[in-house]
Amino acid sequence: MELSDEQFQRYARHLILDEVGDEGQEKLLVSKVLVIGAGGLGSPLLLYLAAAGVGTLGIVDDDEVDLSNLQRQIAHDSNAVGLSKVESAAASVARINPGTRVEKHAERLTAENAARLFEGYDLIADGSDNFATRYLANDAAFLAGKPLVSGSLLRFEGQLATFRGGVTGHEGEPCYRCLFPTEPPPGMIPRCEEAGILGAVAGVIGTLQATEVIKELLGLGSSLSGHLLIYDALGPTFRKMKAARDPGCALCGTDPTIRDLA
Ligand SMILES: [Zn+2]
Repeated sequence: MELSDEQFQRYARHLILDEVGDEGQEKLLVSKVLVIGAGGLGSPLLLYLAAAGVGTLGIVDDDEVDLSNLQRQIAHDSNAVGLSKVESAAASVARINPGTRVEKHAERLTAENAARLFEGYDLIADGSDNFATRYLANDAAFLAGKPLVSGSLLRFEGQLATFRGGVTGHEGEPCYRCLFPTEPPPGMIPRCEEAGILGAVAGVIGTLQATEVIKELLGLGSSLSGHLLIYDALGPTFRKMKAARDPGCALCGTDPTIRDLA
């Protein structure tokens, strides 16, 4: 594929980076990324991935834009209140980069649709706001052999991790269940809507998430896989902790009990 004149100008600041260049930009233009959740993390993810020239962005979300979302979910604006988040986010992507193809999945990620949804993408970025979806995304990405970049937020803190133990050549790298073996019972750990979130923290983590997605797509630098990055806005501190595969993991261990999404 050859870059057009418009693309040479649009991506000029990528093209002068030796580590990206024409070849990297062309790779981004044919990449397909599925973003789970068009909310606090999904907003910066979608906006930066679109701006970067990722060719196809899938958006999974079954929610509508609420006025209380606008404090952090910057892919939506006041005119979008009441609209489907997928439609609103798709319109924002189109404004930033009409060259990006958007695939709208106005549905909730479930054990029934996850395999079908993941199939069409090179990489999954999870920006969901609940544990059930986070575990499901982890299991579905591992079983589908796709890399997963997963973010989460609470109050003044955010976490980021990359999981790709299901990807050929990366066996032995941990999954989300290796770090957090048991799903907390519903209500034990509050969600942002109950505990609050400083809006800009979503921007920090979502933007780091977009950066790690682009790095994975291009094979740039060191992968975050095998680590957990924790940001405390009040410190402010970043901590990068090592995370290892757990041989007893129910999904990626030596004797797995989770073999399908059912
Ligand atoms: Zn595991």
